[in-house]
Amino acid sequence: MKKLLSILLAVALLALGFALAEGDRVTARGVGQGIDGDVVVQVEADAGTIYAVEVVEHNETEGIGTVAVEKLPGAIVAANSIAVDAIAGATVTSNAIKDAVRQALTDAGIDPAPFEVAPEAAAPAEKTAETLECDVVIVGAGGAGLTAAVRATQEGAKVLVLEKMPFVGGNSLKASGGMNCADTKFQAAADITDSGVPEFIEDTMNGGHGINDLALVTTMAENSAEAVEWLETIGAPLPKVAATGGTVHKYLHSPEDGSPVGAFLVAKLSEEAEKQGIEIMLNTTATEIIMSDGVAVGVKAEDAGHDYTVNARAVVLATGGFGANFDMMCAYNPSLANAVTTNHPGATGDGILMAEAVGAATVDMAQIQLHPTVYQATSMLVSEKMRSLGAILVNQEGKRFTNDLATRDAVSAAELEQTGGYAWIVFDQNLVDNNKSAKQYIEQGMAVQGDTYEALAKAMNVDEAAFVETMDTWNAAVAAGEDAEFGRNNGMDADLSTAPFYAIQIAPGIHHTMGGVKIDVRTEVISTEGQPIPGLYAAGEVTGGVHGGNRIGGNAVCDFVVFGRIAGANAAAYAGAEAVAPAA
Ligand code: ADP
Repeated sequence: MKKLLSILLAVALLALGFALAEGDRVTARGVGQGIDGDVVVQVEADAGTIYAVEVVEHNETEGIGTVAVEKLPGAIVAANSIAVDAIAGATVTSNAIKDAVRQALTDAGIDPAPFEVAPEAAAPAEKTAETLECDVVIVGAGGAGLTAAVRATQEGAKVLVLEKMPFVGGNSLKASGGMNCADTKFQAAADITDSGVPEFIEDTMNGGHGINDLALVTTMAENSAEAVEWLETIGAPLPKVAATGGTVHKYLHSPEDGSPVGAFLVAKLSEEAEKQGIEIMLNTTATEIIMSDGVAVGVKAEDAGHDYTVNARAVVLATGGFGANFDMMCAYNPSLANAVTTNHPGATGDGILMAEAVGAATVDMAQIQLHPTVYQATSMLVSEKMRSLGAILVNQEGKRFTNDLATRDAVSAAELEQTGGYAWIVFDQNLVDNNKSAKQYIEQGMAVQGDTYEALAKAMNVDEAAFVETMDTWNAAVAAGEDAEFGRNNGMDADLSTAPFYAIQIAPGIHHTMGGVKIDVRTEVISTEGQPIPGLYAAGEVTGGVHGGNRIGGNAVCDFVVFGRIAGANAAAYAGAEAVAPAA
């Protein structure tokens, strides 16, 4: 009641042209727009001091936005300023919190201007040199790094993980579709008999235009069933099977409840890592691989207060790709300069540069994948699974223009030829009811909608008659099981006839860097002389060769689980660790 009175007083005073003075301490709430709806903060302040900030309501992404929710309020109070640095990788949530604080101050009759002055940068702290010891140091805590860490620990190694961002997960956290695997018990349970290892290899090679490293692809496919079963043993089952984009086969495994695979796996792998007592040092950037007589024996790393020398018997690079490093990408493909990227800001290619510095070879560096369905305003990826579940692509003329589930490069190229270089992904309520991501897109305001096809066409500003004809033709194609127009041959289990109807405007965006460090099937890093560099392993997007010239959706997750496991096991064995748990 007291609080309410003070807010009312503040508003009344402001309305009368009075500003609150220093010492007139009030509490007020403000709202900012986060990634997933409103972020509400409660602020206690007077004209000169912000005493307290608390986020009281939000729906931000677990593990990313929630880091800003935890850390930014304290930073604002400590600096007595709203102009503090955003939390790296969580800019939208950070800005939502700042906007909410501004609004709370204004509503309470406090001028926010004095708080817009950036805090004086603290003099760079004198860094302390520190030496750390472990069996296996893993650089990067995305999907590959977490998998390798859990596996190496199961093999008895003392593992240390370095992660430069304030949170774990990297690009893996954003994987929304699933994990491609072949000959699994989940496929058997669903009576899928035509999507085995040979088909998986063939589809991956064809999708990659045949330039993939066949030995790596074969290793991935042959180990995929064991990998998905291993995930189940650590509490991360992926029992649902659906069609994969770019193929006619059903390899795509995802969580039972339809939740996005990346966030699910990162959470489960993190829980397992915690259970195993694995130390993950956040905000810690590896800068260099330490070599001794041609053998990798550790890494140099740094955080805000330390320069670390990490001595290890084996090093695993799991630093991800370079899809957020425009200088590096443009060196290979200058036409990407103005593209949006779906990558997290930590995807800067550090591991590739560190490996090259110690003589590693790279492959396919110019192979950079555009994903065809990126919502440009926020660079948010609209999952391929939407099309696997039945969504279609329509241009501004209200017409389909391609096989919506052709390979990503083909669909992206087709989109760029349409009016404005964009398209709409169209879906219905039935699809929303079966897919959590679709619900999320709608909640985030990405979709326009209509109760009829005509109403949706109006919201999309496309020709109504043309759009209705497109939808009727598509629903008939689904009923007939044949897409006479464009030869689409999967994701046709359900039509798009359940109102209301939705559409999201999308265009291609940078998604995956398929090139990277050259490895062999044991995940040993290969030198420019063609020999393994002893003690140096790499897995995941930092490596090249698995995906060739075009990655099939669902193969990034398979890549990081299969090769993360191999890297973890081999690095532990090389380090001489003794297994403390059965090698599941
Ligand atoms: P992958 O799928 O191969 O695991 P991710 O992008 O998911 O790739 O994860 C890579 C992780 O590596 C990210 O969390 C990223 O922040 C981290 N990383 C990148 N460079 C460094 C570095 N120099 N030191 C520590 N961590 C790094």
